[in-house]
Amino acid sequence: MSRYWSPVVAGLSPYVPGEQPKLANLVKLNTNENPFGPSPKALAALREACDDTLRLYPDPGSDVLRQAIARRFGIALPQVFVGNGSDEVLAIAFQALLKHDAPLRFPDITYSFYPVYCGLYGVPYEVVPLTEDFRIDVRDYLPGARSPAGAILFPNPNAPTGRALPRADIERIVAANPDAVVVVDEAYVDFGAESAVPLIDRYENLLVVHTLSKSRSLAGLRVGFAMGSAALIEGLERVKNSFNSYPVDRLAAIGATAAIEDEAYFEFTRSAVVQTREALAASLGTLGFDVLPSAANFVLARHPARDAAALAAALREQGIIVRHFSHPRIAQFLRISVGTAAECDTLVRALRTILV
Ligand SMILES: *Cc1c(COP(=O)(O)O)cnc(C)c1O
Repeated sequence: MSRYWSPVVAGLSPYVPGEQPKLANLVKLNTNENPFGPSPKALAALREACDDTLRLYPDPGSDVLRQAIARRFGIALPQVFVGNGSDEVLAIAFQALLKHDAPLRFPDITYSFYPVYCGLYGVPYEVVPLTEDFRIDVRDYLPGARSPAGAILFPNPNAPTGRALPRADIERIVAANPDAVVVVDEAYVDFGAESAVPLIDRYENLLVVHTLSKSRSLAGLRVGFAMGSAALIEGLERVKNSFNSYPVDRLAAIGATAAIEDEAYFEFTRSAVVQTREALAASLGTLGFDVLPSAANFVLARHPARDAAALAAALREQGIIVRHFSHPRIAQFLRISVGTAAECDTLVRALRTILV
């Protein structure tokens, strides 16, 4: 606390990211990074891009990257917005699209950055509890259930539950709320959920946010993007151009473009992650865990007889880190990122010794 701070600063409760430990040789299953490296073509493009042109500012419109995204998703250039990680894209969406007199509505168990942005940008919000089995109930997001929402936001699949809604359910929510923007955060969609992108031509109020941090293995490069109607994208552009003209640097744009274009590597790594997730969920089940069905690159699991914080601490002693959340509804769960098959084996063997 300092008397020099702007008044809003004292009231903030900043997001606490998963630990990025400096120790080597840890089995790091706590922040949903991809266990595979980035596309070799992206790495080659990055190496080649390190030259004298770095003295120049990047293209403020990131047109080459946006064109690659538009091609990949079969949409038009004015329907694509890019930023410095999807956290930044979301931050800009909070300012451009989600701040209204009526509250922004999102689930009680969800990406914990959402209430943080509400605090920073002064966005009124209300949380809607997930069902007993941690599903989003579509009816909670249809008019009539509650007073009208100013806007709606949720991840699909949701985090940290991993549970996904089918596209038809998303469409019901978007179609029933023509006066509210609906933002679907698809950070994990490539691991097994249906994307809402095919709906953006039909619904001017739908914004879909993606990241290269998870399924494209580029968390370190910091690139995310949003897809939606030209009207929504223009709103994002207006805020971005009032904040930072160059959020995507030259290297990030080049690496991200090459990663988006390497469809073969993307398919190979995402299917490997999905396969490993299914094997991990089955092994955890054998150890007595209840595992929520996951369409993401992590699982949320609870052991009926063991305290989750104690399990996380015991794993840490063996050099394995997983994520534990203090929110009371999920305080007895562990969120375990899907690592390589070998890392998941190490985790399962460690749990077996801890549980005896
Ligand atoms: C990881 C994650 C993000 C942020 O991704 P970045 O692009 O790395 O900023 C956004 N939303 C959810 C739900 C995530 O899990």
